[in-house]
Amino acid sequence: TVEVHDVHKWYGTHLVLGGIDLTVRPGEVTVVLGPSGSGKSTLLRIINHLEKPDIGHVSVNGELIGVKRRGGRRRTGVPTAEDRGRLKELSERTILTQRGRIGFVFQNFHLFPHLTALENVAAAPAATGRLGKAEARELARELLGRVGLADKAGAYPRRLSGGQQQRVAIARALALRPGVILFDEPTSALDPELVGEVLAVIKDLAAGGTTLVIVTHEIGFAREIADRVVFLDGGRIVEQGPPSEVLDRPRHERTRDFLSKVL
Ligand code: ATP
Ligand code: MG
Repeated sequence: TVEVHDVHKWYGTHLVLGGIDLTVRPGEVTVVLGPSGSGKSTLLRIINHLEKPDIGHVSVNGELIGVKRRGGRRRTGVPTAEDRGRLKELSERTILTQRGRIGFVFQNFHLFPHLTALENVAAAPAATGRLGKAEARELARELLGRVGLADKAGAYPRRLSGGQQQRVAIARALALRPGVILFDEPTSALDPELVGEVLAVIKDLAAGGTTLVIVTHEIGFAREIADRVVFLDGGRIVEQGPPSEVLDRPRHERTRDFLSKVL
């Protein structure tokens, strides 16, 4: 379970997130929609601890992201003022451990250009010491098969299509066996004919019960796979609910306006 509680974020004096509350339960698929600049990427970056909230907190499986354990006991629940102070003095190692439970797939794939598809997928589990080199490669081979790229294991990213690169990136996210995978517009950099193959892989993950948070403008796709749709505007959640409500019977003018433009 990922819990986002009262998260506020400013860039300078610009309020980018104005009090976000969001719960993502295990096995659920949450789709985040909203106009450009509404704070979607910032929200994902905060969940993944690439950014810190100025107010509020995020917990993953009951453990506060960014808060150190004290006396070996896991600190859970609502943070005290003291906990909030600690958010500022995080060790890099703590952040990396917590981030390891969350997969992130970016719009522009972010593969290592000097590594093959197999090496890209095997790199993270090998680097964290979770698996030996041979085991990491074996896992990578299995995951490349799962995203339909068994025959591309030895290919470098520049030899792969955008859709294939994104599928490698998804396999790489899976390699850390994350509790949740975050997708930030995973198909928006792709040529239209390559979008389907990436969405099919994501659908597969959803059907297999992987917990997903997906920022996308693919409304049809959202309708098919989302358990919950969250509409963000101006750094606030305007409405959220099942696709049959938010997409088909939106209650707010701003949601209707947005949907009329992207559909
Ligand atoms: P898009 O659909 O275009 O990707 P988004 O909903 O993902 O938009 P964000 O990237 O979260 O929006 O940005 C929200 C606001 O924060 C924007 O006004 C953006 O200009 C601003 N912003 C984002 N990152 C930074 C940063 N590092 N420094 C300053 N301002 C930023
Ligand atoms: Mg964005």
